[in-house]
Amino acid sequence: MELQAADVVVIGAGAIGASAAHHLAAAGQRVVVLEALDGPAAGSTGRSFASIRGQWADELNIEMSWRSIRAFREFPQRYGVDVGYRPSGYLLLVSHQLWDAQLRAVELQREHGLPVEVLSFEAAQAITPFSADGLGGTTWGPADGVVDPHLATSAYLDLARNGGATVRFRHRVDSIAAHGDGSWTVTAGTTELRCQHVVNAAGGWAGEVATLAGLDVPVVHSRRNVYASAAGALAGSLPMTVDFTSGFYLRSEGPRLLFGGARPDEVDGYRTDVDWAWMEELLALGARRFPWIVDVPLDRAGCWAGTYENTPDHHGILGSVPDAPTWVNACGFSGHGMMQAPEIGRLTAEQVTTGGIAGLDVTALRIERFAATAANRPVELVF
Ligand SMILES: Cc1cc2nc3c(=O)[nH]c(=O)nc-3n(C[C@H](O)[C@H](O)[C@H](O)COP(=O)(O)OP(=O)(O)OC[C@H]3O[C@@H](n4cnc5c(N)ncnc54)[C@H](O)[C@@H]3O)c2cc1C
Repeated sequence: MELQAADVVVIGAGAIGASAAHHLAAAGQRVVVLEALDGPAAGSTGRSFASIRGQWADELNIEMSWRSIRAFREFPQRYGVDVGYRPSGYLLLVSHQLWDAQLRAVELQREHGLPVEVLSFEAAQAITPFSADGLGGTTWGPADGVVDPHLATSAYLDLARNGGATVRFRHRVDSIAAHGDGSWTVTAGTTELRCQHVVNAAGGWAGEVATLAGLDVPVVHSRRNVYASAAGALAGSLPMTVDFTSGFYLRSEGPRLLFGGARPDEVDGYRTDVDWAWMEELLALGARRFPWIVDVPLDRAGCWAGTYENTPDHHGILGSVPDAPTWVNACGFSGHGMMQAPEIGRLTAEQVTTGGIAGLDVTALRIERFAATAANRPVELVF
């Protein structure tokens, strides 16, 4: 057994663990990252749709995303690395029923400094062709777009290493012991680490990792599929376009069209085989809004599946655990962990180094909400 010491052990080298490791190392913490798989971004991160948006309906998500978008955008200037942030935009197609709420969301987004526009159907259809049946309006986020999950994760890990962190791949954490003084012993095979804080950034496995420490963290895997056209099937490029009436979304990636949407009856659990039956149903759903899609040739070889890391309310879990203040969760961000990874990592480091999070009101992300009664549970955040 190889016994070592660290201030913080970060479990997981996806986008969130990598960002946390960087911010912790930059704050002077001795950090060790333990990752079960062969390299960075090998879990959900590397299978992401990689779309990023500040267009949320609540202040917390607007801030988490908008701060993160700016962090991705500033990477080349701050660190000399391009992490693939491209402001290709995000077009939201919103139903009549949700349109008033969407206009209030636009006001809120603007109050937070996010550029967002309300577009006429004609202007929006010039960006992505669609049928306006049943729609109340459309909004456009010109700073929203895409990032490269592999580049961003690797860049954060490099920064962490430059700050003195150690990153160990092929180190699956298999036991965690708590000590009376709040410290932990984390074991991965023959490596044993004594540390003051553990950061649980294990994505969809965060629940299993917490169980090793006797803690209950309600995170499960839920499969999501990405379907792809043949290369060259589109004449031009399309930005991320989301039909809020059905949950169907699409965008182009290089020469391909990509599209997806959650299967409502998807059963929880880890699986990454592509759901071909759902592709047919989803295409029928998508064709109602984007009739031209039926003529797009598909390519099974370009499709993939991965898992969201879901919580019961589909929002992340961030911060320490009341009964174990030196255990810090940074997990369960469902389908928006990539776009918020920079800020999740920054706030995780703040929790570790100061014992709290003052930089943003993250009450709605605290694990305590799951123990709350229905009456005092935070309001469910919209979309
Ligand atoms: C198809 C799809 C589309 C998506 N689209 C988007 C999108 O457009 N925008 C967006 O923001 N998000 C999107 N997401 C979600 C996003 O990918 C995740 O929220 C994000 O990547 C989570 O990052 P993470 O670091 O928490 O998890 P992960 O990347 O899963 O990293 C967790 C790591 O922990 C490691 N680990 C687990 N158990 C252990 C252990 N016992 N010991 C050591 N290591 C362990 C795993 O191997 C893994 O590498 C999408 C996800 C999928 C699958």
